[in-house]
Amino acid sequence: MHKYQNFINGQYVDPLSGQWMETTDPYRGEPWAQVPRSGAEDVDKAVQAAQRAMSSGPWAEMTASARGRLMHKLADLVEANVDRLAELEVRDNGKLLSEMRAQLAYHPQWWRYYGGLADKIEGGVVPIDKKDIFAFTRKEPVGVVGVLTAWNSPLLFIAWKCAPAIAAGCAVVVKPSEFTSASTLEFAQLTREAGFPDGVFNVISGMGGEAGAALVDHPDVAKITFTGSDATGAQIYAQAARTMKRVSLELGGKSPNIVFDDCDLEKAAAGVISGIFAATGQTCIAGSRLLVQESIKDALVERILEYARSARKGDPMQPDTNIGPVTTPPQYKKVLDYIDIAKAEGARCILGGGPATDKDLPGGQFVEPTIFTDVTPDMRIAREEVFGPVLSILTFKDEAEAVAMANDTIYGLAAGIWTRDIGRAMRVSKAIKAGTVWVNTYRAISYMMPFGGMKRSGIGRESGLGAIHEFLEQKSTWLSYDETPVSNPFVIR
Ligand code: NAD
Repeated sequence: MHKYQNFINGQYVDPLSGQWMETTDPYRGEPWAQVPRSGAEDVDKAVQAAQRAMSSGPWAEMTASARGRLMHKLADLVEANVDRLAELEVRDNGKLLSEMRAQLAYHPQWWRYYGGLADKIEGGVVPIDKKDIFAFTRKEPVGVVGVLTAWNSPLLFIAWKCAPAIAAGCAVVVKPSEFTSASTLEFAQLTREAGFPDGVFNVISGMGGEAGAALVDHPDVAKITFTGSDATGAQIYAQAARTMKRVSLELGGKSPNIVFDDCDLEKAAAGVISGIFAATGQTCIAGSRLLVQESIKDALVERILEYARSARKGDPMQPDTNIGPVTTPPQYKKVLDYIDIAKAEGARCILGGGPATDKDLPGGQFVEPTIFTDVTPDMRIAREEVFGPVLSILTFKDEAEAVAMANDTIYGLAAGIWTRDIGRAMRVSKAIKAGTVWVNTYRAISYMMPFGGMKRSGIGRESGLGAIHEFLEQKSTWLSYDETPVSNPFVIR
């Protein structure tokens, strides 16, 4: 069984804790590697290495243009390793190889985009209202960044978070999910090959409540960027306040996919399927609430059922598989519990509704694609994030009701709108309280487009030009060339 090591200060090293934990292939249900179960002392070692890299030596002295060139080299190396890294991700998280390959093939764009931005971080000259003062601002790296990621797309999150942080001149300490650490630990090797100075990119694996909490508590970490559940996000937000860290949170959702009666039904049906069954529903942007206009409900449901029934469950490594396993045992239990809750609340199950029992599925973590109708807005299945292949269908009469239902949630990550009416598309997309609204498409992402949540779906934005500012501090500098005699020092200048 492969035994991974932490990556600290440019070297692979055993954890000081002396402890390891198994990582499991969700499809086969078998452990396939060991990763360090790091403790606070390992976190401290990684943070110190990052701190050293930022305060002296090649990283501290490097020009922004040179930083950008290293990031371009890393992008090329990721491109050359797409297949290997994608297979590693599938081994650990059980998502489809086709999905992970597509993510990895797109991943280098974040390094190129922010690599190009590194030497365009500019301050400003302020036309200050004081005599004989030259006033300017500059942008400086915020400091050591602690990066905490979820298990569903580990390396995509590394690109989203680390590319802008490193372009800004920060050094990072990454703690990937305890369920999917292998790909991030392997990725570190590419940063070394690209020529990143020691200490700029560090990875320690471990449990959230141990290594993760130690990273959030560490006094020399200036900023935490986190992707995960809203419950953990809230805990981290509170904990980070004790040392006044900057915090960005990418959390969960209960995103509405709203289908109006003037839509292209075929496209809308495909969009609904992609929103909830792609990645076995294990995406933060899952369109888990289908809001459909009453008049077309039956026609849409019929089409969705056809699609969903034809979805092939199986080995995520095979190109014809559509639905893979649920990644982790606790998540598998959670999805099944929500199915039971929905049934007990009176929702009507029209597809699936339990574990998949096909004989050729070895690992035992498969859930049937599940669809509930007769869901009312007060039911838990309409309000809480399941993070699995479970769709709730609700109906609305008109546009106003659709908007009210869409916004009746504590979350605000994403929404889909299906309509041919451009006026309606503009009105509804404006009225929806969500960080991303897709009209006549779903699950589209780009390194150029800001991504993040409103309400309890998070704080801050990733991707796009603005994301780099999440990793910068602004400093105001006042430079006096006043040659007049000293004035009263007890009065504000
Ligand atoms: P999680 O909250 O359980 O864990 C996320 C990370 O936080 C892991 O690395 C974990 O080890 C760490 N962690 C856990 N407890 C911690 C603590 N006390 N202190 C510090 N770190 C701690 O989330 P998950 O189950 O891995 O991921 C699923 C969740 O992530 C879903 O809610 C999903 O919606 C969300 N998600 C959001 C986005 C987004 O971009 N908005 C993307 C993907 C997933």
